[in-house]
Amino acid sequence: MDLKKSERIALSDLSANVQADTIEVTPMREPDHKWEFADAAGHEHKWRMFEHSSAAIETCKIEDYLDEEGTVALRYVCAECGEVISPKYVAPCFRSFVLGNHSASINGVEVTREEGELALAVVAAMNGGGE
Ligand SMILES: [Zn+2]
Repeated sequence: MDLKKSERIALSDLSANVQADTIEVTPMREPDHKWEFADAAGHEHKWRMFEHSSAAIETCKIEDYLDEEGTVALRYVCAECGEVISPKYVAPCFRSFVLGNHSASINGVEVTREEGELALAVVAAMNGGGE
């Protein structure tokens, strides 16, 4: 639906809506912080968790290698003896979302986010104005 130029919206009928899409960014897996592993040489390995749900195994190095299909992949190896370490992962406990594109409308007509926010401010000012 497009507003024709001749059409006007009475301010009292103004309704505006601004919303953001949410995009799910839940990782497929996350480090299992209960995992502990001692390699053949007795070196102990475990995840260390940081803020923003990043994690590292400080006793390991990350090296690249060629997998069976000949593509470069990454793996953990013990920083001391070089044993390949396969850390454990678990399914995430929480779903994570980020805000995506905003969509906005005025009386059901799609507008830009700025226009939508301006209209919201007008509606708020009218409701707060007490006329
Ligand atoms: Zn080791």
